Amino acid sequence: MTAGISHQKITQLRATEAQTYSAARPKSKAALARGIAHFLDGVPMHWMRDWPMPFPFVVHAAKGAAITDIDGHTLDDFCLGDTGSMFGHSPAPVAKAIRTQANRGLTYMLPSEDALELGNMLSTLFGLPEWQIATTATDANRFALRVARAVTNRDKILVFNGCYHGAVDETMVRIRNGKPINRPGLAGEFRDLTERTRIVEFNDLAALESALSHEDVACVITEPVLTNSCMVLPDPGFHDGLRALTRKYGTLLLIDETHTISSGLGGYTRVHGLLPDLFVLGKPVAGGVPASVWGMTHEVAARWQQDCDGREPGYSGMGTTLSANPLQFAAMRATLSQIMTADNYAHMERGAARLQSGIAAAIEKHALPWHVTRVGARVEFICAPGPLHNGAEAELAHAPDLEAAIQVALINRGTLIAPFHNMMLVSPATTNRQIDRLIANFSDIAQRLAA
Ligand code: PMP
Repeated sequence: MTAGISHQKITQLRATEAQTYSAARPKSKAALARGIAHFLDGVPMHWMRDWPMPFPFVVHAAKGAAITDIDGHTLDDFCLGDTGSMFGHSPAPVAKAIRTQANRGLTYMLPSEDALELGNMLSTLFGLPEWQIATTATDANRFALRVARAVTNRDKILVFNGCYHGAVDETMVRIRNGKPINRPGLAGEFRDLTERTRIVEFNDLAALESALSHEDVACVITEPVLTNSCMVLPDPGFHDGLRALTRKYGTLLLIDETHTISSGLGGYTRVHGLLPDLFVLGKPVAGGVPASVWGMTHEVAARWQQDCDGREPGYSGMGTTLSANPLQFAAMRATLSQIMTADNYAHMERGAARLQSGIAAAIEKHALPWHVTRVGARVEFICAPGPLHNGAEAELAHAPDLEAAIQVALINRGTLIAPFHNMMLVSPATTNRQIDRLIANFSDIAQRLAA
């Protein structure tokens, strides 16, 4: 049994749904067969292999909260590019900004007037005064960590078990049998990453204090909620404790809002009054155009300036050539001013609450030992009892075969959710009809599994 379901039922569901999926997508299958020859592993980016379907469908177009494949199927999209399109596909103001900028140059390593506006917007919305633009959340985290190490003159960082902050090497650590190890599965990693990365469980303030008490940790990097394993919410008082302990031991606090920006206007940080020293946001910040931002307090900025003054001039190890380009400025300006609005967040929150209660009702109706959790517009069902308290529990809560079977079954019924973590996002474009369809589809699958 896995998560209350027999292996036989899971295997059966997976096989039947895989067959249905393949039979319905001859054009995607043929297109992939024609197009794969010169892509490593048959896809332009190997994550596309990690979807649970027998092969990925080829997209014709996506708009709002719908995505259409070349076989003519239109799905309600709750994956939304795994958060990159959290505010819907091609939101009209962003599409317009892109069109306008398209004729004014796409990259020139100089600011535009949009950039001037953007700086003000970032500081008003997120509460931190000094900003930089990068292209991915991975890079923003990398650069922010470099600043943290430079200004504290400490080499270590601390992460929580189960974390994910992009392809940032030094965060790729896990706890196994009580010991820190390199995250299993890393390719080509020959360093022992645990030498400079301490790791403790989320929600464990005692372990955090003992790890920080050596006063050699430059920075704690964390999401406010762990969203990259099965979702783990902070215990009451955890964030206060985290902030107090990092201050006590001279460690900076980096809050990575890349997923928790779903929480509401200004992200979890603003909604819950967190006070980070460094702040990172990627993915949806430019409405789907690759861009990220990272901000810091005046204090960190002043210490950074001091560090710059004391260092030999040369390459800082930060920045990439196409970062802070005018297309990003235009798309971010449009997103921050017209998409990340209180009204849109209110719509998303209402829809996500509806989705959460519908899924919870289906779980209860079919007496499954599962639960559903939510951070603003971000909802996730977990095929294990909850709530979860840390990364170790989250890892055990994963049921990959069962989740894959459910995800393909949902696609065959017209709804796309995120692979890897059963995540469902409600965008400003998502309708109650789409939400109710997802609930009905989930309920139908749950019934089959539970029968
Ligand atoms: N931070 C968090 C919290 C993330 O979830 C992710 C990606 N899932 C990243 C950073 C990295 O984003 P990107 O892949 O766009 O660099």
